[in-house]
Amino acid sequence: MSASPERMSDILIVGGSLAGLMTGLALSRHGFSITLLERSTDTDRTGAALQVGYGLLEQLTGRPHATGALATGVQAWQSVYRGLRAAADGAGIVVLQNACVEATGEAEDRAWARTADGRRFDGKVLVGADGYQSVVRRQVSPERPDAVFAEYLAWVGFAEESALSVRYPPNLEFLESGPYVLLGFPLTAADGSPERGHRRVGWGWYDAGHNAILRSTGAVEGPLVRHSLRPNDMPDALFDELAALARRHWPSPWRDAILECIARKAVLGTPVVEYYPDRLVAGRMCLVGDAAHVCTPMTGNGFATAAQDALTLARCLDPAALRTDPNAALMRYEASRLPEVRRLARSGQQISQNFVRSAG
Ligand SMILES: Cc1cc2nc3c(=O)[nH]c(=O)nc-3n(C[C@H](O)[C@H](O)[C@H](O)COP(=O)(O)OP(=O)(O)OC[C@H]3O[C@@H](n4cnc5c(N)ncnc54)[C@H](O)[C@@H]3O)c2cc1C
Repeated sequence: MSASPERMSDILIVGGSLAGLMTGLALSRHGFSITLLERSTDTDRTGAALQVGYGLLEQLTGRPHATGALATGVQAWQSVYRGLRAAADGAGIVVLQNACVEATGEAEDRAWARTADGRRFDGKVLVGADGYQSVVRRQVSPERPDAVFAEYLAWVGFAEESALSVRYPPNLEFLESGPYVLLGFPLTAADGSPERGHRRVGWGWYDAGHNAILRSTGAVEGPLVRHSLRPNDMPDALFDELAALARRHWPSPWRDAILECIARKAVLGTPVVEYYPDRLVAGRMCLVGDAAHVCTPMTGNGFATAAQDALTLARCLDPAALRTDPNAALMRYEASRLPEVRRLARSGQQISQNFVRSAG
């Protein structure tokens, strides 16, 4: 570890995606200095249709926000990220990108994170919001640090409604056919327009029949998920096979959206992962969001659960607690959240097991 820290903050958050931003926003109400370390510069992630409740930003920060600062209803990941990121910038949260944390640890009165380029960052408390492959989880749960493959994947794609000749239902739809499950959802347009014809259409197709290609491409190794299956990893024959399956199993209009994405080779194969937590806290470190617990996206509750983690942490960790006994405050956070997130993780595992069993 380098001798002196690049920056000392009250709260150091590893991971600058949705859980990290929501946690930073919730803790910002206490006037803490907050630094968020994010490894990527590319925030253009897709795959999730997130249900954003009315007034989420106000709940998180305890302050009023401009109407539309974070759109409500079913939103694409990118729109939610943009709203949270703008609010974090407004709240004075320091977000450092290109900061890939390799190791974390604890000294007497602080926790620290070391980045791949050798920089050290310190905080009175360190929050791991670094997703399902969390580095911070290695410290919090060293005996069981890894999320595991749930033995199926979700094919995911997004189409512009204007590129399709069919009209879409206004609401999310959940369909089952043979061994497959499909979630289809209309989203507002990239420019925020909710008008028909300007919307985008998202879909997630759950499939337990293509695990072999995940393993042969290295996307999954043993029980561990390394990365998603990218279009370049997928041979033409696989796209042809998916197109034939879509024609057989999915009705219009969702079939049209899937075929349009297949024609553009704009399909991602995301292995489903799960993590059932034994704990959320060790000393001055704690976990939130997918770093703390991971459920199948079929439950559709990852985002809402991460928001509850953030709100609960901010209730337990106020300035007096940070000054006098941060460890005890984090233990209160764990006591409040662990039973609920274990229940959700268990029910997600049951959903996955039923799906894989009925597909097999
Ligand atoms: C295909 C798919 C569909 C989903 N659908 C839904 C849905 O319909 N509804 C719903 O509620 N949820 C859904 N989810 C889950 C939801 O997206 C997450 O639960 C939620 O966004 C919380 O994510 P997170 O911020 O904890 O983790 P992530 O989004 O994984 O973010 C972790 C962040 O940490 C960064 N990071 C990781 N390691 C390091 C490191 N070492 N150093 C620095 N930074 C690091 C990453 O770059 C990333 O930005 C879905 C997930 C997937 C994969």
